[in-house]
Amino acid sequence: RIEAAAPQPRITVIGTGYLGATHAACMAELGFEVLGLDVDPLKIVALSRGELPFHEPGLPELLVKHVSSGRLRFTNSYREAADFGDVHFIGVGTPQRPGESAADLAYVDAAVAELVRNLTRDALIVGKSTVPVGTARRLRRLIDDELEGRPEPAAPRVALAWNPEFLREGRAVQDTLAPDRLVVGTDDGDAESRALLRRVYAAPLATGTPLIETDFETAELVKVAANAFLATKISFINAFSEITEVIGGDITTLADALGHDARIGRKFLNAGVGFGGGCLPKDIRALQARADELGAGAAMRFLTQMDEINLRRRDRVIHLATQSVGLLQGARIAVLGAAFKPESDDVRDSPALDIAARLYNSGADVTVYDPQANRNAAARFPRLEYARSLEEAVSGADLVVLLTEWEEFRRLRPRDLEPLVRERRFIDGRNVLPAEDWKASGWEFSALGRRADV
Ligand code: NAD
Repeated sequence: RIEAAAPQPRITVIGTGYLGATHAACMAELGFEVLGLDVDPLKIVALSRGELPFHEPGLPELLVKHVSSGRLRFTNSYREAADFGDVHFIGVGTPQRPGESAADLAYVDAAVAELVRNLTRDALIVGKSTVPVGTARRLRRLIDDELEGRPEPAAPRVALAWNPEFLREGRAVQDTLAPDRLVVGTDDGDAESRALLRRVYAAPLATGTPLIETDFETAELVKVAANAFLATKISFINAFSEITEVIGGDITTLADALGHDARIGRKFLNAGVGFGGGCLPKDIRALQARADELGAGAAMRFLTQMDEINLRRRDRVIHLATQSVGLLQGARIAVLGAAFKPESDDVRDSPALDIAARLYNSGADVTVYDPQANRNAAARFPRLEYARSLEEAVSGADLVVLLTEWEEFRRLRPRDLEPLVRERRFIDGRNVLPAEDWKASGWEFSALGRRADV
């Protein structure tokens, strides 16, 4: 006797930014019918046409493929999403509250409340946004309050799970289709929700992705602990930069030698202008704030220092630039990079863009060039000049500053720039170019983590 296959759960993804658009397209790629929902009408129009509103390698192809097949659709309507989905992933933003360190949970709360208000059928809500520990348990109560008072036969059963997202921008598709691990937090060992999520993630699980099934609090904490660890690793090597900048020594050799120790590892030990983006900075601040609220602030105090080390790297570039050109006022400075990291057009809390803006505010004549992020950067800092090419950016420059390590910049040779610049001055904010070659070609060349010879 052949058993009829159970119908595939239908999936909605609420919030279709970097996380949500990627998750929606990847769920379609795994074979599910998917409906993405966002409150931003422009995003929905673009995505419905198969146009991705941000840069992410490999994602445009998946979006076009599944929008044209009809397996992936987008909407503004909570009613439509509530009627459609069996599993609702929540991927809305959790930014830093303006003027505070804590996370703003207004978007998560609004998304969950609006969904539940519209639900007339049973559903599993799965949080993916990065949230302070304790949020899932609070949302559980919010859901129960929302459902209370509904007439019995009409009240749906609504389960909640927390499934934090670990994707890296620039590698988001690969990280979603084949993650390093899957973490699922549920209340009281909720076996039904766990089983449903095992079906949703059957493909990555079949290829050996580790699955950690745990409670709400652990699931929420895994995400912020991972980010805190990564931020610490970056700030750790940058703290040593502050030493080698004074006494000498080679920060890259130090990192290589440390990295050979398998207990430490070489990744995330690159000295440079430090971390930025829409996650690490706000997540470590939110973790510190949450620990303070819980009366455990002392335990997380080191994160405040990691944040400070990180921000001091930006001051260092300003200092090197000032030393190099003498007076920033009127100096023509070419800034290479605006995105917070290569293979991304994300400029949220980007060290590159922050430094460019600070140089501009000190009177420098700044031209920025980024292979992908010019448009986002211009939206944030319209008063900076943006060049369409590297050549245009460096033309007539008194100083060139490399701040995002795009492949195009890693390949730079002194002779590429020599016919274009006014002065041979370079600051390598990411330690990706061979200093000796540049110096041998007559450049005044400084890099982070190295004693300045200017
Ligand atoms: P984003 O700003 O790109 O996207 C958030 C989206 O949510 C926006 O499109 C916004 O319009 C939408 N939104 C806001 N309120 C809504 C509502 N009530 N209903 C429906 N849509 C709503 O942010 P992101 O980078 O995708 O991050 C989302 C979450 O994922 C954050 O918690 C972030 O920390 C976490 N995260 C992000 C990454 C990453 O690399 N970007 C990785 C892991 C985790």
